[in-house]
Amino acid sequence: MHEHLFSPANAEHYATTMREGVDVLAGHLAGVTAPATGRTVADLAAVVDAVDLDRPLGDAAAALEELREVYLRDAVWFHDPGYAAHLNCPVVVPALLAELFVSGVNSSLDTWDQSVGATLVERRLVDWTTDLVGFPAHDDGCTHGPDGVFTSGGTQSNLQALLMARGETFLRGHADPGLPYAESLARFRVFCSRDAHFSVQKSATILGLGADAVVPVDVDARHRMDPVALERALHRCLAAGDVPMAVVATAGTTDLGAIDPLGVVADLCAEHGVWMHVDAAYGGGLLVSRRRRHLLDGVERADSVTVDFHKTFFQPVSASAVVVRDADVLRHVTYHADYLNPRTANLPNQVDKSLQTTRRFDALKLWMTLRTMGADAIGDGFDTVIDLAHATAAWLRDDTGVDGAGRDLELRGEPSLSTVVFRFRPEGVDEDVADVLNPRIRQALWSGGRAIVAGTKVDGRSWLKLTLLNPASTLDDVRAVVDQVRAAGRDLLEHDLEGAQR
Ligand SMILES: *Cc1c(COP(=O)(O)O)cnc(C)c1O
Repeated sequence: MHEHLFSPANAEHYATTMREGVDVLAGHLAGVTAPATGRTVADLAAVVDAVDLDRPLGDAAAALEELREVYLRDAVWFHDPGYAAHLNCPVVVPALLAELFVSGVNSSLDTWDQSVGATLVERRLVDWTTDLVGFPAHDDGCTHGPDGVFTSGGTQSNLQALLMARGETFLRGHADPGLPYAESLARFRVFCSRDAHFSVQKSATILGLGADAVVPVDVDARHRMDPVALERALHRCLAAGDVPMAVVATAGTTDLGAIDPLGVVADLCAEHGVWMHVDAAYGGGLLVSRRRRHLLDGVERADSVTVDFHKTFFQPVSASAVVVRDADVLRHVTYHADYLNPRTANLPNQVDKSLQTTRRFDALKLWMTLRTMGADAIGDGFDTVIDLAHATAAWLRDDTGVDGAGRDLELRGEPSLSTVVFRFRPEGVDEDVADVLNPRIRQALWSGGRAIVAGTKVDGRSWLKLTLLNPASTLDDVRAVVDQVRAAGRDLLEHDLEGAQR
């Protein structure tokens, strides 16, 4: 038996083991000089598959040694300035300190008797978030004021928001009493911009809405939802006898960082009595920005808001919340069990508000972050990367190429938040070739491991994307990434693109 392994209460063993782990990670981090190794799946799969899970190594030191090979050496490092791909942030150290307590104490946030103070900490942070959003403490039609709950991520937050919207839509009498439940549900419609996150579609499917339930609304030149198109879509829906269930406005689209016109969307939602959800999974960091909070003006009129702390609040995965204007709507996820939260229970619990039951104390990471460095430091971090995106865009716009070879980089438009969408397309290279070339540049960078960018399509064309979330990155760092793009692009054009040139 390994009695000493069954609990951190074996204090000496626990402390020694954790220090070994910190030493391995810190030692490794000190030697990281690139965001990834680009090792192939086959290569790494051979290493992982070779591990015999039936033969334990016997101690943590040996397991840590093996971990270097299986995982650490080839991991992707989001703090490396060469990393500029997805919405992953470098993580703040106070949150990592909190992680020690999140898993070491292992509270579960479902009921008071599994969490005690943790429930109160999470509630304080939900209140802190609803204050930042600007929900009124008490509203006309709303009895209990704002509330919310921590979730595993934006996907779950959006799902819960739409589940509550579905429940409220039924309660507002929109179900046709002459129709069975499923047929009423098939008439419910959710409106979001064409650029909204795919979790909206996923949620609609999970919630049993019809295949056509999500109505994509056209966007303007800067990829923000076009309110005239939204109004037309709402009218078409009503004219067809369908039921507008929710409008999802995105505050920071995943690709272009576009922020839908929240105030106008709120007006339309109010006029038609439709639930307004704001997906601020990406733009949520603006809530603590000292210079750009106004970009979220109108968010306070939403019925529900998604905020991903694990994106623009620099928190480790998972940390997200869904917050609501009216605490009452959370009853759509409230179920009672005699063994957990009987109706007669009179202690505070969070399970009544959550899709999850057993749930991590992720809120502690944000708490320790606020108590150590404060919200302004977080907001300044987000402002810094938005500034960097603007500086990068300005540089790309003015850049005239290398060695008199002419312009070879194209900017897709002014950044809205911290993403920069661009492509490698030297003069004389037509768009079809660029469509083949740019995904291959991205692939080449990944294999090289020194710089990592994302790819996407805008209006059917292939582009590259820099997602800048590292406040320690400089313009020179970003230029070094773009130089890699350029070098890979030239190399492919010269040696390897015959197929695409045709
Ligand atoms: C990232 C993102 C999501 C999904 O959030 P997860 O935390 O990855 O589940 C939803 N909406 C937008 C706009 C996002 O950028």
